[in-house]
Amino acid sequence: MSNNNHSINEFDFNLICEYFSSTERQGPGSEEATLKALQLLETLPVHPRIADLGCGTGSSALLLAKHTQGEIVALDLFPQFLENLQLRAEQQGVSERVTTVVGSMDSLPFAESSFDAIWSEGAIYNVGFMRGVHEWFRFIKPGGYLAVTDASWLTDNRPKEIEEFWLDAYPEIDTIANKTKQMAQAGYKDIHTFVLPDNCWETNFYQPQREAQRLFLQRHPNNLTAQELVRNQQREAILYSQYKHYYGYVFYIGRK
Ligand code: SAH
Repeated sequence: MSNNNHSINEFDFNLICEYFSSTERQGPGSEEATLKALQLLETLPVHPRIADLGCGTGSSALLLAKHTQGEIVALDLFPQFLENLQLRAEQQGVSERVTTVVGSMDSLPFAESSFDAIWSEGAIYNVGFMRGVHEWFRFIKPGGYLAVTDASWLTDNRPKEIEEFWLDAYPEIDTIANKTKQMAQAGYKDIHTFVLPDNCWETNFYQPQREAQRLFLQRHPNNLTAQELVRNQQREAILYSQYKHYYGYVFYIGRK
């Protein structure tokens, strides 16, 4: 989903939900990346309780359900995404271990120290990395984990066009070193990071959107909001192909 907060506020939420419900994931990622991160949670109990914040239609929540014997609490602001997730959980035979919660990640409706892990792919930007890593700490059990992906600079310098795009869309984009420092300051130990490879963006995120865009515009002929939404997503994809050496999504994993 777009990191561009301006576009989210200005656009019709229903249209955004419809657009992103038609693709399997709403942000860059992959099964391999989720499972690689999961392996780094070395001391996870056999039946972990894991929250997936900003879960969307469940690309990571379903994998966590399949690859652990735990209970997954999947939270998102948009009920439409969660209905889609529930349907997929039933189809994949994991619905009894996946609970969906309509709620906001900026005021989590959970008890303190109630999760063995807090997971969040491509969504912490909604509250901002700093705020998210600090505020979510208290919901993690001692010895439990945080695993999140966030937009990060991959080099110390970058061309003006992409710098300006990101500073407008998500001013908290920062280098991996600085974000790791922020996590350590929030109290996390044993921090691991890895950059999501190109297929997480191109093959899994932008490519499926191309067909979705065509059908979406067909369903909403002459709708300026729909056209602008598609244009923004297309611009993001072009910028990514042009500047992918300078930024990416990074998995940040740390232990409380
Ligand atoms: N994790 C999913 C979705 C990422 S897109 C994936 O990787 O495919 C970002 C998600 O954050 C969207 O599903 C959006 O609905 C959700 N979101 C936006 N603001 C939120 C908030 N304040 N609280 C919870 N979820 C939010």
